Amino acid sequence: MILICERCYGAVDPETEPYVRLAHIEHAAADGTVSWRDAVAHTGGCVPAGTVVPASERGHLA
Ligand SMILES: [Zn+2]
Repeated sequence: MILICERCYGAVDPETEPYVRLAHIEHAAADGTVSWRDAVAHTGGCVPAGTVVPASERGHLA
């Protein structure tokens, strides 16, 4: 199974990277039935997807 981090959208290697498994409510029915959606996120402080990092902070000049 391929795990994708919900913060940075990068792949998570469960053998080598620390991560946390999350459960979000996908849908709750009127009868009380709940559908869960599992997700994972790196715990190593990954950069959120869409973050704009200035060139001066990327270690090189653009
Ligand atoms: Zn991540």
